[in-house]
Amino acid sequence: MGYTYVIEHMEEDESTPACLPPWVELEYCHMIKLAGPSASVQFTHLSANAGSSLGSKLSWFSGERKEEKLASYAVHSVSILELLRQKNVPLSKVCLLDPKADKALQPGDKDEFGWYLFGGILGDDPPRDRTSELRRLGFPSRHLGPVQMTTDTALAVTKRVVDDGVPLDEIPYVDFPTIRFNARESVEMPFRYIREKGEPVLPPGMRDLLHEDLNKSFEF
Ligand code: SAM
Repeated sequence: MGYTYVIEHMEEDESTPACLPPWVELEYCHMIKLAGPSASVQFTHLSANAGSSLGSKLSWFSGERKEEKLASYAVHSVSILELLRQKNVPLSKVCLLDPKADKALQPGDKDEFGWYLFGGILGDDPPRDRTSELRRLGFPSRHLGPVQMTTDTALAVTKRVVDDGVPLDEIPYVDFPTIRFNARESVEMPFRYIREKGEPVLPPGMRDLLHEDLNKSFEF
């Protein structure tokens, strides 16, 4: 069965032609790969410029990966609440992934929820609980463990639990990995990632972006 994953975009537009922070574009593109071919990924609450920029990026990403089975996707200017109203989906069928939820996500939750909602938020360290802006809308919620994940990782973990039936604590993770670029340069990431072949699963292009940012931060 195909699930619907919704990312409520909650970051301000940047004053760049793309409008979207580069990490957003990389994470959001990664999501249509992580969600799997039977899923649908809905990006909500984007401005006209950001939505158009994301739409072009997603179309380029899909075109580059014709052989891969990607999820269907749509970009919306309306918020999650308006989208649910348009699709006639009750809030009770939507699970908010919330680090402060009381209950952990389990495979059996697939029978209760067809939609899974995430905050399109750049993680911060320490977390500032910006997911609270969605919490106050009254969705049922589940957590994915005690460590903050990037949004694409949270979607990937959710997919493994509800779509693949893998219990949360049987998914291999790596917490706070150090991404090493060369003998002298590395960066520690304040998040939990899925681990594959001993490495954190990052969006395509993220390593290069992190390395560029590292160099930028040392430009005086
Ligand atoms: N710093 C934000 C906060 O404190 O609310 C979280 C930002 S996180 C990078 C982006 C989104 O991924 C969250 O809004 C949530 O939907 C999901 N997420 C990340 N880690 C999670 C966890 N451990 N449990 C549940 N959801 C999580």
